Amino acid sequence: MTVQPSCSSRSPHASPTRNTRPEVREQRATILIVDDQPANIHALAKLLKDDYRIITATNATKTLELAQRDPRPDLILLDILMPDQDGYAICRELKADEATHAIPVIFVTALDQAQDEAKGLQLGAADYISKPFNPAIVRARVNNQVSLKLKTDLLEKIALQDGLTEIPNRRYFDRKLTQEWNRQSRHQYPLSLLMIDIDHFKLYNDHYGHGAGDECLRRVAQALAKVPARAADLVARYGGEEFVVLLPETDANGACEVGEQMRAAIHALALPHAYSPVADHITLSIGASMHQPQQPVTSAEALKQAADRALYQAKEQGRDRLVWRDIDAG
Ligand SMILES: [Mg+2]
Repeated sequence: MTVQPSCSSRSPHASPTRNTRPEVREQRATILIVDDQPANIHALAKLLKDDYRIITATNATKTLELAQRDPRPDLILLDILMPDQDGYAICRELKADEATHAIPVIFVTALDQAQDEAKGLQLGAADYISKPFNPAIVRARVNNQVSLKLKTDLLEKIALQDGLTEIPNRRYFDRKLTQEWNRQSRHQYPLSLLMIDIDHFKLYNDHYGHGAGDECLRRVAQALAKVPARAADLVARYGGEEFVVLLPETDANGACEVGEQMRAAIHALALPHAYSPVADHITLSIGASMHQPQQPVTSAEALKQAADRALYQAKEQGRDRLVWRDIDAG
């Protein structure tokens, strides 16, 4: 059975404003300097401030807070001897947290025994600098770690972005779906999903050629990506002419509203499709579904299947429409 919930407005502010897209920042890299002695922070900051954006912390709590906050640091210079929690413990926490484990850590410390250095490296630190430090060596080691980090970020961005449309790809979507599925079961909020297909895209390719087909995919992807109002929403290319939209903390009405806005955005593009039996321009079929935390559904796969079945029904019913399907519909 299909249901078409009526659409009501969805607040763009009800969701955290995390940035969920695989972006690499263009501005200067950020270095977090951690030391309980302000004089030590000052000395390092003076050395690096011309090339980097510097943020600082003098204790563990502040360090972990800054490491998790966007834009996240690209490198952490970490003192070991501190009064509340030592640098080793902080490093252990950073490496155990999915949000911060990829940030390289360099220990900067007065401890100069081989076993101190070995312990730091075993905890996952990228490098180790003994105080008193040589400015040129500090700069060189920092530059090395930052350029490695930026290269890794770039590779990750390439791996998670669709090359043609420049929006996130299926791999990124699958990763976010798993993360949001786990998060929504902890925090009890509805999670909605849209599966989108360009109507009669094969006919478009056959008649206009693959070059025009690629351009059409690019324009549709860019238009879809502009619709969601919340930073946590995700629009990804699922494959071929299929797109997928993940809407955390969004109920059925909100999901339908976003879907209808997407259909309207593509209508407004008015990309001619003279060979479509549905309309004289490019149109979309959309399948929508949602999981409520209290629903006895145990996997994100069930949500994907429900949205996929809804998409199938939208096509069966004549395309150029959105069909809602309850996740329990089987
Ligand atoms: Mg200290």
